[in-house]
Amino acid sequence: MAINKLLLTFAICRLIVTVGLTVDPAELLRLGVDGQLSVDPSDVEIASLDFGLLSRAEPMAVLRPASAEDIARLVRAAYNSAGGFTVSARGHGHSINGQAQTSSGVVIEMSRRSGGGQLGGLGNPNPPQVSVKEMHADVWGGELWIDVLRSTLEYGLAPKSWTDYLYLSVGGTLSNAGISGQAFNHGPQISNVHELDVVTGKGEILTCSEEENSKLFHAVLGGLGQFGIITRARISLEPAPHRVRWIRVLYSSFSSFTRDQEYLISLYGNPPSQKFDYVEGFVIVDEGLINNWRSSFFSPRNPVKISSIGSNGGVLYCLEITKNYYQSTVDTIDQEVEYLLKKLNYIPSSVFTTDLPYVDFLDRVHKAELKLRSKGLWDVPHPWLNLFVPKSRIADFDKGVFKGILGNKTSGPILIYPMNRNK
Ligand SMILES: Cc1cc2nc3c(=O)[nH]c(=O)nc-3n(C[C@H](O)[C@H](O)[C@H](O)COP(=O)(O)OP(=O)(O)OC[C@H]3O[C@@H](n4cnc5c(N)ncnc54)[C@H](O)[C@@H]3O)c2cc1C
Repeated sequence: MAINKLLLTFAICRLIVTVGLTVDPAELLRLGVDGQLSVDPSDVEIASLDFGLLSRAEPMAVLRPASAEDIARLVRAAYNSAGGFTVSARGHGHSINGQAQTSSGVVIEMSRRSGGGQLGGLGNPNPPQVSVKEMHADVWGGELWIDVLRSTLEYGLAPKSWTDYLYLSVGGTLSNAGISGQAFNHGPQISNVHELDVVTGKGEILTCSEEENSKLFHAVLGGLGQFGIITRARISLEPAPHRVRWIRVLYSSFSSFTRDQEYLISLYGNPPSQKFDYVEGFVIVDEGLINNWRSSFFSPRNPVKISSIGSNGGVLYCLEITKNYYQSTVDTIDQEVEYLLKKLNYIPSSVFTTDLPYVDFLDRVHKAELKLRSKGLWDVPHPWLNLFVPKSRIADFDKGVFKGILGNKTSGPILIYPMNRNK
């Protein structure tokens, strides 16, 4: 059965060793970590906020760990101290509602990159280790997915399941789920992990997997940072495709749109040539949107005027699909795409196609980020909402929300994509 994931935002939770608090910051500085324990106001300020810019909590100190042992030392101190104090892992701080913040405790800055993406002073003591034979990579919990991709591509390999945006940390997305258009096929990112090293609430460092400490493994994956701090993840890899055919088609009928989305994800068991590799979509309630969010890859060759297409109640739905290919399959890609498109019921005049290197497709949102940053529109509050809606109620949702509450008054991105519950 399919469910639809609506991205009006991504949000969720906060971490770990929570007990009261009264600890002298000077005591913390005597912990003797190899990394940096900072009470510098500028470090504290960064850790007080996140991408949402909606909530603020000021920690007492910030730890930039040099190793998993540094993290374990801090958590043991929290666990053993008389008053106790809170500890929160912060990946890249791209939560919306303070999930990685803690007031008065210690925030552990897992990523070595700043909010803008630059590498910080400690460099990277644990670069990804790729095993070509086993087709996996061992990566530091604070590694950003963009850096995992760059490292694995050196071996012609890449992770299988993604988020739309790659400047997120491995620990941060594995604490949620890590979902994008590939999830119908491979499952979310948490379904593509073989093994983890985790610092538990008592400050032990444990390895866990399906076979070893399996309860911890399943608690930490999607555990919202509440069951331990991921310091290493073993990520499953596949041969990296060379290029991507990226297609957008439009619908004025919501039922045709969802029927086609559900049909496409039902093909997950088919051979690679007989299914798309990525299925997403978005809702267009505002004329400006289709030529705006993430779509500079299509324009100016493919500008769209909603009024020229004719929409039902002012709302259009855009199905986004891709087909990966290799040098060896370059001769058949046109045929494969044509065969799959024939089965769909989109508005015939509305096929928009582009073709680009695999990396450029995966890193597409960064291009939008740079554009928004240059206009001062990235570091602004992000009141986003993320919902899973069952297939049985998605038509009601369309009627009540897209055609009802929203009208044509919103210009923010509204992603809507189908998920297989069994993945
Ligand atoms: C522009 C943008 C696009 C996005 N696109 C997608 C998308 O396509 N798909 C999707 O699934 N999500 C998406 N998200 C949401 C994103 O995946 C989550 O917000 C994710 O938690 C952010 O990762 P982060 O590294 O910034 O984590 P943070 O915000 O730093 O932390 C998130 C949570 O994880 C915990 N945590 C962080 N590191 C660790 C660790 N090493 N061990 C244990 N717990 C830890 C934190 O304590 C906190 O609870 C997007 C977010 C943004 C801002």
